[in-house]
Amino acid sequence: MKTPLQLNSSTNKKPTLPLAEIEHSAFCKTEDELPARPLLDELKVNIRWQEIPVEYLRLTVEDLDRRIVRARSSLGDRLMILGHHYQRDEVIKYADVRGDSYLLSKLAAANSKADYVVFCGVHFMAETARVLASDHQTIILPNITAGCSMADMAPTNDVLDAWDDLTGILEDQSIVPVTYMNSTAEIKALCGRNGGIVCTSSNAEGVFKWAFQRAKRILFLPDQHLGRNTGLKMGIPEESMIVWNPFKRMGGHSEEEYNKASVILWRGHCAVHTRFTVGQIEMARQRFPDLRVIVHPECTREVVDASDINGSTEVIRREIEQAASGSSWAVGTEISLVNRLAKENPDKNIFCLDPVVCPCSTMYRIHPAYLAWVLEGLVEGVVVNEINVEPEIAEHARIALETMLSV
Ligand code: SF4
Repeated sequence: MKTPLQLNSSTNKKPTLPLAEIEHSAFCKTEDELPARPLLDELKVNIRWQEIPVEYLRLTVEDLDRRIVRARSSLGDRLMILGHHYQRDEVIKYADVRGDSYLLSKLAAANSKADYVVFCGVHFMAETARVLASDHQTIILPNITAGCSMADMAPTNDVLDAWDDLTGILEDQSIVPVTYMNSTAEIKALCGRNGGIVCTSSNAEGVFKWAFQRAKRILFLPDQHLGRNTGLKMGIPEESMIVWNPFKRMGGHSEEEYNKASVILWRGHCAVHTRFTVGQIEMARQRFPDLRVIVHPECTREVVDASDINGSTEVIRREIEQAASGSSWAVGTEISLVNRLAKENPDKNIFCLDPVVCPCSTMYRIHPAYLAWVLEGLVEGVVVNEINVEPEIAEHARIALETMLSV
């Protein structure tokens, strides 16, 4: 067993938030302001944007539309565009396939015909597609600053330190690392290297069962809320789930507490889904007595408990599509998806739980100007923003992803 002096996370660190988290509310606006404007106007929002050739800055959405359609048709079957459900309308309309991160990555791997896969999502999704796709395929993220604040909350060195410390202090050495899809390829690789696995919000329960067949406890990365909500669904008492705080010495708990825990939750969260509150649910229920409330399991435990249904984006879509005409739904997930569900289901009353309109600020960086830029580059034979993963990282990340597929 390690002495405290040998611990990697032996000192308290100054808490720092990932930049994407700080920038999160930059795009909170009214419904009227949500439609895309020329990129030059949107650049006034004070966040990190990737530099782009100046000719794209002033193009209207209509001009960009013509150029994207032309480039897309010239590339034909050599191109596949993937669109995440949280993407804005002016971008997702070009997607050959829409879905959540897992479905899209699987599709990228299954379609080996396309030489170029343009992923209109965020960085970890494009990395996952890179890990699963064939060698001859080129994966492109239109705006390289489209990251994910949750994935950024689990930096590799902090997680490696925590893993070393935990394996050093656990008397029975019985622990499996499990990471949510929303994590970097390096974190997925850490799981693959250590007998662990990846999960999505759709299969988290099955993955927990798999992990508990192999060890007494799980280190769950990086979303504490999905981890806690999944544990609770499986009947694990809340007191058996403790949070590893990377800013505190040894994660903020004693050796004894880690030895007793069943689930060690990384202290990460989604800035979009933790905006929802029980107060918003109560207010919505007062307005519509027969209301159904459906939320994503990245929301807090209290919000999930106060809702009627919780599930992945695919579950939310399915439940609403199959609901009775005339029913009312308050939805706790990303606003672009909620607005699209409302448009696609005009016979139902669908609205976002949060009255303030806040899209996922990192997804929102994929402006149509970036899509036009990367597609026109491909037509000219120039690859812009290719996503690569080091071979050793890709190999172990693939093991963790393929283990998930076998569950
Ligand atoms: S919605 Fe949350 S978890 Fe999803 S990409 Fe945006 S910040 Fe990341």
